[in-house]
Amino acid sequence: MSRRPMLAGNWKMFTTPAEAAALGRAMRTALMDPPAVDIALFPPFTSIAALVAELKATDIIVGGQDVHPEPEGAFTGNVSAPMLVAAGCGAALIGHSERRTYEKEAGEYLARKVRAALAAGLMPVFCCGETLAEREANKALEIVRGQLSDALAGLTGSEAARVVIAYEPVWAIGTGRVATPEQAQEVHAAIRAWIGLTWGAGLARSMRILYGGSVKPANVRGIMAQPDIDGALVGGASLNADSFAGIVRFQDTE
Ligand code: PEP
Repeated sequence: MSRRPMLAGNWKMFTTPAEAAALGRAMRTALMDPPAVDIALFPPFTSIAALVAELKATDIIVGGQDVHPEPEGAFTGNVSAPMLVAAGCGAALIGHSERRTYEKEAGEYLARKVRAALAAGLMPVFCCGETLAEREANKALEIVRGQLSDALAGLTGSEAARVVIAYEPVWAIGTGRVATPEQAQEVHAAIRAWIGLTWGAGLARSMRILYGGSVKPANVRGIMAQPDIDGALVGGASLNADSFAGIVRFQDTE
């Protein structure tokens, strides 16, 4: 089964609503007549409405950068999955390393977020990845398998089929230091093997695994050439329409 590539942009804590609308407009122009890939953009919560309005005539998915496990309640500062859906979102990032680091999110809490996103009809984009110290201690695969087991292993096969996994080595995020295609492929292959052991060979063939960590137009092609890499989650380079479009059109780059 051939997997449809997915290119996603995480805008982190950048863009006011007016800036998000302008960037969305520039993306629409730069991505007119897009290749056969899925495209998703994750603006800050306050810019979702402006971006959804700007992209309503396109197939670009808008997503939330996080989601709370409960549908509503006394959880000051949080946003629920049904709220994201009502705002026009089709996806949610879960377990991004910046939330693991700064908000101390992990394990069962992330599992609940994944289930909440699925229950509301959102596509969870579940992030995992090791720190530099963990890689240097030869623990990258063990750490990533542990993060996947904690958050995803309890899902049924049909639930898991709706999840996209993003492997993002923490040492490559926002650092300009990109994993070599071979380093990324090694972890992606291990993730695919874990999917196979957990839900079977069919899902291992069909689930998409994105790579994230300093992806740019200049390095995307080598990354996408790897057999187990199905797309990219892009931070910095997704804040410029031309560079994100260059990544989306990875098949055209030198
Ligand atoms: C990210 O935020 O998920 C990311 C990969 O950032 P960058 O592309 O800037 O490394």
